[in-house]
Amino acid sequence: MTAQVLQEACIQCGLCPSICPAVFTLPGNGGSARAVEGEIPLEQQIAAQEAAQSCPVSAIVIR
Ligand code: SF4
Repeated sequence: MTAQVLQEACIQCGLCPSICPAVFTLPGNGGSARAVEGEIPLEQQIAAQEAAQSCPVSAIVIR
């Protein structure tokens, strides 16, 4: 499983890093959220999916 944040869609609400900080980060400079590159560790996958489902603008793509 991998996660990607659609940079142009993210409104920087801060929800995804608060739900799953191991996978999502929000840079302090006002930029869009970022997801870690590569495979999400098994123990983080449920939280990552929850973050994706919680994103108010559906900017997180889980594959
Ligand atoms: S939950 Fe969605 S809109 Fe909010 S910071 Fe994460 S990707 Fe951006």
